[in-house]
Amino acid sequence: MSIAKIRLYVDHPLGQGQAVPLTADQAHYLFSVMRLSAGDAVLLFNGQDGEWRASVEQAGKRGGILVAQDQTRPLHPPPDLWLLFAPIKKARTDFIVEKATELGAARIIPVQTRHTNSERIRQDRLQAHATEAAEQCGATCVPEVTALQHLDRLLGQWPQDRRILWADETLTSTRHTLATATRGPWAILIGPEGGFSAEEQKRLRAMPQVTPVSLGPRILRADTAAVAALTLWQATLGDWP
Ligand code: SAH
Repeated sequence: MSIAKIRLYVDHPLGQGQAVPLTADQAHYLFSVMRLSAGDAVLLFNGQDGEWRASVEQAGKRGGILVAQDQTRPLHPPPDLWLLFAPIKKARTDFIVEKATELGAARIIPVQTRHTNSERIRQDRLQAHATEAAEQCGATCVPEVTALQHLDRLLGQWPQDRRILWADETLTSTRHTLATATRGPWAILIGPEGGFSAEEQKRLRAMPQVTPVSLGPRILRADTAAVAALTLWQATLGDWP
């Protein structure tokens, strides 16, 4: 069997000897694009059973079957961290989803704020981006990308025990306060290019779950802010060693 280089997310149980049928897209990718054939090895993960080495049993044009052989990595779910961000231009939104997956967010929630630039997102496309990023970065789980949600509504039913790291652009000259924060369920909130409205700021400041945080003395673009906030959180409260 060849050394497995390709990692693939599959929506199928994985275990020793488990046959995994491929979708037409997966078969096209493995056999037409990557030119794998019977006996070749692939790494599979499904967000539940860790990572498995599998071999190609049947290779067809529109389908195929892999058989899982042995577990190569245990499941390593990301910390219980959500990323809430206001979608921006397509390429920058794609970037945010990709980086959030690599940096280890469990859930990605596009939010509509007062000044959000984009009223629509392609949830399926963003989810596909997250899957691709997880395949590429060695993650054993794929974060869920939800439909666009209204920030107002989301905050109205916000869980008591989930803290919010609010990237607050008005705090550019105040030191961040994450140093005293405790571990547990968290969310990061990044605003749109236009920033948060006065009402949104007032509301966020009044919520006991919210920790306003500065990301430095310069105003960052939303995609940079997302990466900076994820890094800050992961290094302080996350799963980095
Ligand atoms: N138009 C706004 C900036 C928005 S930047 C203004 O000029 O003030 C987009 C988002 O990135 C902000 O809503 C905030 O969540 C985050 N952000 C950017 N720079 C930041 C900083 N220095 N500190 C905290 N958050 C920041």
